[in-house]
Amino acid sequence: MNDPFLNSVTQIRRAADLLCDSAEKLCLPPEILERIFEPQRLVKVHFPVLMDNGSTRTFLGFRSQHNNARGPYKGGLRFSPEVSESEVKALSSWMTWKCAVADIPFGGGKGGVVVDTKSLSKAEIERLSRAFVRAIADVIGPEKDVPAPDMYTTPEIMDWMVDEYSKITGTDGRACFTGKTIGGGGSEGRTEATGFGGAFVMRELAKRKNLDVANTTVAIQGFGNVGEYFAKKAHEYGFKIVALSNSKGAIHNQGGINPNDKDLWTSGHHKITNDELLELDCDILVPAATENVITGENADKIKAKYIIELANGPLTPAADEILTKKGIIFVPDILANSGGVTVSYFEWYQNMHNEKWTKEDVLAKLEEKLDKAFDDCYQEMQKQNTDMRTASYMLAIKKVVDAMK
Ligand code: NAD
Repeated sequence: MNDPFLNSVTQIRRAADLLCDSAEKLCLPPEILERIFEPQRLVKVHFPVLMDNGSTRTFLGFRSQHNNARGPYKGGLRFSPEVSESEVKALSSWMTWKCAVADIPFGGGKGGVVVDTKSLSKAEIERLSRAFVRAIADVIGPEKDVPAPDMYTTPEIMDWMVDEYSKITGTDGRACFTGKTIGGGGSEGRTEATGFGGAFVMRELAKRKNLDVANTTVAIQGFGNVGEYFAKKAHEYGFKIVALSNSKGAIHNQGGINPNDKDLWTSGHHKITNDELLELDCDILVPAATENVITGENADKIKAKYIIELANGPLTPAADEILTKKGIIFVPDILANSGGVTVSYFEWYQNMHNEKWTKEDVLAKLEEKLDKAFDDCYQEMQKQNTDMRTASYMLAIKKVVDAMK
């Protein structure tokens, strides 16, 4: 069973053990280790929402604040039936390490409400969003904890949350949430940020490995917000995309697929399954859909030489071990998909300083940040002689523990 919180602890422990064994001899005492495994604060709320039929329903929500040594807690709010204490704890921890790797001055947070939004009307979702903000208003704020959209939460929901937070506090609450609509104070470039960021990272990897881009084949699982923008930027760079998929299935063409094609899914490419896509003979595999898709069960069948984790947590710790033994290099999620939170930081910065940047500005700054983050993690990997995930964690742990001191 893949418990997300236990997976996060395993990843941190592996990096912490190596830091102690490394030339740096940085052995973290147990009281520090405990504090970087567990969130500093876990808020659990039960709150009432008025339904359209006049009844009142009570919902369960969480906000996990993992670590704020480097800046305010930062991370999404999900509305999903799967939201659980273990999940928000793990996701908030990943945000701490992601912000440290991307070198943005935020800590890690995550939250959510246990709800199936498909069963609610739009007015009910608005009342739920506002009620959740009232329930957690004390613990969030532009300099305390800055939530963002996540699964089944949207820019419009962020705008409602800003409005509610502003009313409660009597302040301009825009900097308290990111991922807002552009009219509501959101940033240009946020939609493209995660996918484009992943492509910047892939281009840097190709440079280090002297890959001939035109002959480098790429298979991408997931063609949603992240997968689509990633595919388009990769195509623009000249990489050869040979497979793409969504939840219904995958298409494959060794001659290359243009992700801008209008009739992409019906244009005669071979139909394969999502499992077959993962096991394709390609250079770079990009899981950009969901978590735990490469596990101890199928890691041995992966033929790609490189994996770029655009989804959160697509590889389990068991898969990491097998892939490392096979010599496959994987760029971890906390680096590869950190473009999203980086532009969220730009949004917060613009709100705090009453600025409005152009899309060109935002994407140029993003590219600069990610190139530097990739370089730092790659150097750490070479220095520590380990896999890139462990190296990225080692780097992030050093930054966070330094700030905690
Ligand atoms: P999305 O909902 O826009 O797209 C998800 C895509 O994956 C869709 O094409 C869907 O059809 C496909 N999919 C779902 N289940 C699948 C399966 N089992 N097999 C194959 N395809 C499947 O979501 P998104 O925003 O693109 O996010 C994708 C991943 O990236 C998630 O893990 C998310 O947590 C992570 N992520 C997103 C952002 C962001 O800015 N959107 C930032 C960081 C990480």
